[in-house]
Amino acid sequence: MTAQQQKMSLNPRKMEINGKTRVCGLIGNPVEHTLSPLIHNTLAGRLGHDLAYVPFPVAEDGVKAAVAGALALGILGLNVTVPYKSEVIACLSEIDPLARDIGAVNTLVRCAGGYKGYNTDMEGLYRAMRSEGIELAGQSVILLGAGGAARAVAYLCAVKGADRVWMLNRTFEKARTVADEVNGRTGRNVICPMRTEDYAEIPDGRYLAIQGTSVGLFPHTQDVVIEERAFYEKIHTGFDLIYNPWETRFMQLVRANGGRAYNGLKMLLYQGIIAYELWNDTQVSEEDALAVYDRLRTKFS
Ligand code: NAP
Repeated sequence: MTAQQQKMSLNPRKMEINGKTRVCGLIGNPVEHTLSPLIHNTLAGRLGHDLAYVPFPVAEDGVKAAVAGALALGILGLNVTVPYKSEVIACLSEIDPLARDIGAVNTLVRCAGGYKGYNTDMEGLYRAMRSEGIELAGQSVILLGAGGAARAVAYLCAVKGADRVWMLNRTFEKARTVADEVNGRTGRNVICPMRTEDYAEIPDGRYLAIQGTSVGLFPHTQDVVIEERAFYEKIHTGFDLIYNPWETRFMQLVRANGGRAYNGLKMLLYQGIIAYELWNDTQVSEEDALAVYDRLRTKFS
């Protein structure tokens, strides 16, 4: 067996926990359906790292105690998911400037005396888009949503040189607040807030559309923010941050009108890979990344 085959044959579920195994995990609520253990335990198996990744459900008001407990237990790093991505910031001893600007942290890395917070969602989405050949520089973008994820997307579009981003949201005030913040922090007047129902006012043209709301998420798979065909005629490429279901109604409508459409599974993959790289001070190859992606995909077949 070649070294490569040996590496491929490692089954993370058969890895032995021993006295030196380092632990990483996920805090959030709920965490029962997370795919992150699959990402990190597969990587640890392939790369031969003595590391185990486990989910930790954290009850409301429990984040501070969870982070202090993780520190006391020697936990190497944590991912943070809904609803704690902002709340966890108060528990950090350091924060990466990008995460501070976005206002959300999804990765904690152990440092002297505590944890340093990062946001790998944004860079994860960027790597996912690049792997599909989607560029943001010079793009005209329509962004659906103004929640935590859409805020990071707006920031990403602004820093990567998008030409203009029409941010459509059900609650206009939220879109306006996010637009003001992102435009102010990046020094570019690029995010234009708009009420979702006013989409017809977006100038004629062909757009990259990023679906950043929670509408259409399993089990509400037939829901979509905008149903009208006129909207989808504006879209050459649709990127939905949702990956469950595999093909959302938004993606179906983009494809039905001749556009290309992608789901959010590669974003999930790459945000995890960047966290893994931070914890282990390593670089994950594209070959290893795609092997993890193949395992993730089996969850949707
Ligand atoms: P969030 O902060 O709760 O924001 C939810 C967004 O959806 C808001 O813009 C909200 O509008 C909108 N929305 C909710 N229900 C709606 C409805 N019935 N009609 C119209 N708009 C509605 O959530 P989030 O953290 O940003 O997450 C958004 C989505 O991104 C989720 O589906 C999540 O799974 C996905 N996500 C994927 C990844 C990945 O790795 N692929 C990472 C992060 C997030 P209002 O402001 O009007 O309430």
